[in-house]
Order: sequence, then C-alpha cells, then structure tokens
Amino acid sequence: MALDTSWYTEEWAGQGAAISLKIRDKVHDEQSTYQRIEIYETETFGTLMTLDGLVMVTDRDNFVYHEMMSHPALFTHPDPRRVLVIGGGDCGTLHEVLKHPTVELAEQVELDERVTRASEKFFPELCESNNDRRARLHFADGIQWVADAPPGTYDVIIVDSTDPVGPAAGLFSETFYQNCFRALRPRGIVVGQSESPLFHADLIRSMQRSLKAAGFGEAATLFFPQCTYPSGWWSATMGGKNITLANFRNSDTAAGMFATRYYNQPIHAAALASPEFLRHPEK
Ligand code: SAM
Repeated sequence: MALDTSWYTEEWAGQGAAISLKIRDKVHDEQSTYQRIEIYETETFGTLMTLDGLVMVTDRDNFVYHEMMSHPALFTHPDPRRVLVIGGGDCGTLHEVLKHPTVELAEQVELDERVTRASEKFFPELCESNNDRRARLHFADGIQWVADAPPGTYDVIIVDSTDPVGPAAGLFSETFYQNCFRALRPRGIVVGQSESPLFHADLIRSMQRSLKAAGFGEAATLFFPQCTYPSGWWSATMGGKNITLANFRNSDTAAGMFATRYYNQPIHAAALASPEFLRHPEK
C-alpha cells in the first residue's frame, strides 16, 4: 500500500500537542467489529500498531509498558499462580507474565480477536508465548468475564486496555473493581493502565478512590516513561487485597530470575514514588 504522507501523526486531544513518527509504509488497514486496526513500518521505531488512530504498540518502546504492566504486580504478590489479562490483544503483557515460573495459568480476555491475529502476523516476538501450555486466549468482553468469574479465581488481574472510552470505559469503574475484588484470592492484586500523570491526573486520582471504595485496602500508582503515548509519561495503578503494595519480592527481582530490558529492583522501587501533585489522591 503506498502512502501519500511519510509521517504518522497522533494529535493529543485538548493538549495542543502531538507525536509524529516517520513511516516507510502502511502494511495493514482493517475495520474490525470494534475498531480500526492500522499497522505501519516506521523509519526508526520498527512496526507500529494504532487502534482508532491511537498508538498502541511500537517495536522500539513496548518493552517498558509491557514489563511495567506485569512485573511489579507479579513480584508484589508472594506466589502468583493464576493470572488474568484483560485486553492486551498484542500479547506483549501475556508474554511477560509467562516469564514467571510460579504462574500455572495465564488467561487473556481480549474483546477483539482481530487485534491478536494482526499482532501474530506483525509482532511475532510479542506473541511467542501464545502457545505456552499455561496460556489461554479468550475473545470476549473483560467486564462481563470478571462479573461472571467465581470468587477467588485469580491471584493477579492485569487490565491492559485502551483509553477509558467506548468498550474500555467500564474497565475503570467502581463496579468493575468490586468484581475484581471478588474474583481475586486473598492477597490478590489488580493493576490497570492509568494513562498519563501529566494529562490525566484526575483519572489516576479517581482510580485510586474507586479501588478503595470497591474494597481494596491499598491503592498505589507506578510511574514510567512511555515515549509514544500521550505526554511520553505513563502510569499503572494497583489495588491490593489484604497485601502491602510497597513490599515486593526484592530478592527475586534482584536475582534476575529472567531477562528484562527495563524492569529491575531499583526501577520497581523508584516507580512507586509519587510526584508531589499526586501524593494525596483522595483530595
Ligand atoms: N498498550 C495499550 C495502550 O495503553 O495504549 C493497550 C494495548 S491493548 C491492544 C488494548 C486492548 O484492549 C485492545 O485490543 C482492545 O480491543 C481491548 N479492550 C478494550 N475494551 C475491552 C474490554 N471491555 N474487554 C476486553 N478487551 C478490551
């Protein structure tokens, strides 16, 4: 497919800012039942996938996001065995989860099968654990999945979703967190991507409040860079069920149980430090 422009630009609504990536070619364009899936080859960021015109994944920087969505929560839990990933159709988070030797079952519930099929073709390295005997891929609504889950099914629930609009909006609601609380075993953890601290501080505050209102004793936000997402600065917010989120299996992370490119023990500790403007989310 030839392109009439050599730059992909995503304007960040209401922020007077944008990101542009120089592209070589558009290699995929499809309208699924849920969203428009476009894939480009860029000059310097490798393959890029957008959904409804918003950057989801690039080859070059996805490792930061996928590692921070998975390892802090899994190393905070003392013995994570059953993990649920909601969304995450590119399968990068699932791939990181399956690096943990304690994990016996990793279920992924993605609404849009077409995102996963396109990722298998264009991001094979993210999908290389899809055939792991512990992995189960389901294509369904994650909100309904958690509502239907028997109590105490999972140790960790990871919400690797699109922005809080359309079908993902309910993944940020108190009702959803109540269902997560019920679906988690004692000491369980839910973690969800919580957007940009600079652009969406209110969303982070409201997520922390909703998690606590839903029964989670603690809520904590992790901060990390993500250069192709709005503002270049991103976050993930955890809720803990009878577990202290500041403590994690330091010795395991320090020992380097498996290879990572961003996550390590000092990064984990540093990511839990809140900027001053977000230190009192209840206000
Ligand atoms: N890393 C990305 C980001 O933060 O921009 C998220 C990537 S992942 C591809 C997001 C996925 O969430 C999409 O494939 C979308 O189909 C899925 N999704 C949105 N709402 C969902 C829901 N209610 N249940 C399950 N999956 C959902």
